[in-house]
Amino acid sequence: MHLEKFLIWIILLRNQEKKSMIKLREPIVAIATPYGASAIGVIRLSGQGVWERVKRYVKIRGEPKPRYAYLVKLIDESESTIDQGIMVYYMSPNSYTGEDMIELSLHGNPLILKKALELFVRSGVRLAHPGEFTKRAFLNGKMDLTQAEAVADLINAKTELARKAAIRQLQGDLSSYVNSLREKMLELLAYVEADIEFSEEDIPTLTKDQTILILTSVEDGIRALLSTVRRGEFIRRGINLAIVGKPNVGKSSLFNALLGQDRAIVTDIPGTTRDFLQEQVHLYGIPINFIDTAGIRSTYDSLERLGIQRSVERIKNADLVLFVIDSSNPVEREDWEVYNLIKERDHIKVLNKVDLGINPSVMDTFPDAVWISAKTGEGIEKLKEVMLEKVGLINEDCMNLYISTRHADMLEKALSVIGSVKGKILMEDISPEIIMLDIREALNHLEEIVGIITTEDMLDSVFSRFCIGK
Ligand code: GDP
Repeated sequence: MHLEKFLIWIILLRNQEKKSMIKLREPIVAIATPYGASAIGVIRLSGQGVWERVKRYVKIRGEPKPRYAYLVKLIDESESTIDQGIMVYYMSPNSYTGEDMIELSLHGNPLILKKALELFVRSGVRLAHPGEFTKRAFLNGKMDLTQAEAVADLINAKTELARKAAIRQLQGDLSSYVNSLREKMLELLAYVEADIEFSEEDIPTLTKDQTILILTSVEDGIRALLSTVRRGEFIRRGINLAIVGKPNVGKSSLFNALLGQDRAIVTDIPGTTRDFLQEQVHLYGIPINFIDTAGIRSTYDSLERLGIQRSVERIKNADLVLFVIDSSNPVEREDWEVYNLIKERDHIKVLNKVDLGINPSVMDTFPDAVWISAKTGEGIEKLKEVMLEKVGLINEDCMNLYISTRHADMLEKALSVIGSVKGKILMEDISPEIIMLDIREALNHLEEIVGIITTEDMLDSVFSRFCIGK
C-alpha cells in the first residue's frame, strides 16, 4: 500500500514537466534561400491560418491537401502573374514548427522573391526574425533546446566532424545523455520529497550512502560531458595554433610544411617575418588556424618591434603553441627568452632541422620534444598527431558528444550544487527540505540545457545565431 503511494508520487513528479502544447501564433514569412540568382528560391510561411491569409495570391483549384505538391501561380492584386512554382502546405501539428506552414518554391530571382514577400506582408503576415521558425518548433515541443541549437550548428558546420557532431545532437544524442542524468536526479527528488510528505508513514527511503552514491554517479556523468567542451569548441571554431621561436629556427618553414604549400615567405635573413600570417587548414576534420608569428627578440627596428608586440598578443589567444628550436645549434639565451613567454601555456617543444644533425646539448635540455625537419618533412605527421593529442582531440574514450559553452555553464552550476548537497547530507540533523531544495536546483540547471526551463534572454542568445528563414 505504502509502496503504491510512493510510486504514484514518482509518477506525479515526472509529469510535472511542462508538456508543450501547440500555441496558435501569428503568421510569419521569410525567404529561406540565400540572396542571389538561383534555380529555385524558397519562401516559408508559418502560423495560425496562414493559408487563409495568402490564398488570394497563390492560385490553386480548391483547398490544398496537406503534404501534396501543387503547381501554383503567384498573382498580385490586379491578377497579374508574378511567377509560377510549387507549393506544399503542412497542417498543424505535422510541420517543422508544429504550426500550419506553407513552403513555396519559386524561381530563384531576388526580384520575384522580394515581390512575393511584399504581397504576403500586405496580407498581414509579419516578417520572421532570425531563427524564429526553429524557435517556434522548440516552443511547440517539436525539438528540445539542444536539438534546436544543433540546427544552427548543422547549417554552419565547416568540416565533416562538425557536421557529424551536429547531426548527432539534432538526432537527440546529447538530449538522451542529459535526460539520463535528469532521471537519476528526479528519482532522488522523489525519495526526498516523499520522505518529507509522508514522514509519518512507512514508505521506502534511501540511506545517506545510497543518496551519495546516486549523486556521485550524476557528478561523474556531468564531468564526462564537461570534458568534451574544449573539443566541442575546437570543432566549431577551430584551434588557434601559434608558432613561436627566435628568428631563423624555421618557423615559417614549419608553417609551410604543416600547410603543405608555400604561404609564408622563407628567407635566411633573421627577422623577416614582420607580421603574423593566418591560414586555416583542416587536420582530421578539425579546423586549425595557424598563426605564424614574427620572430621574438630584442631589436632596435621599430617595425620589427611592432610585429613582435603583436606576436605576443597573438600568443595570448592561442589554444596551443609550437615552440621551435634549431636543434643543430646549442640552446641560446634568445631561445629561453621566448620559452619564458610561453612556458605557462599549452605548448609543444619542436626541435627543427634534425637533417643537419642534432646538437647533443639540445637533446639533453628538451628530452620531451618532437623532432622534425621542416625542410625534408621528417616528423611532420608525428607532430600533427601530437598536436591533436595535446588539445584532447585524439582520445580513446571520446564520447562523440561535443557540448557548447552554454551547456558547460549549466553543467558547472549543477556540479557545484551537487558537490555542496553531498557535503550537507553528511552533516548531522540537516533538514530534508534543504536537501530537497538543492536537488531541485541542480535539476533545474540540467533542465536548462535541454530547455525544459528557459528564460527569454537564454532563448534570445540561442536563436540570434540563426539565419532568417530557419
Ligand atoms: P624563421 O625565421 O624561424 O621563420 O625561419 P625560416 O623558416 O625563415 O627558416 C630560416 C632558414 O632555415 C631558411 O634558410 C630555411 O630554409 C632554413 N630551414 C628551416 N627549416 C629547416 C630544416 O628543417 N632543415 C634545414 N636544413 N634548414 C631549415
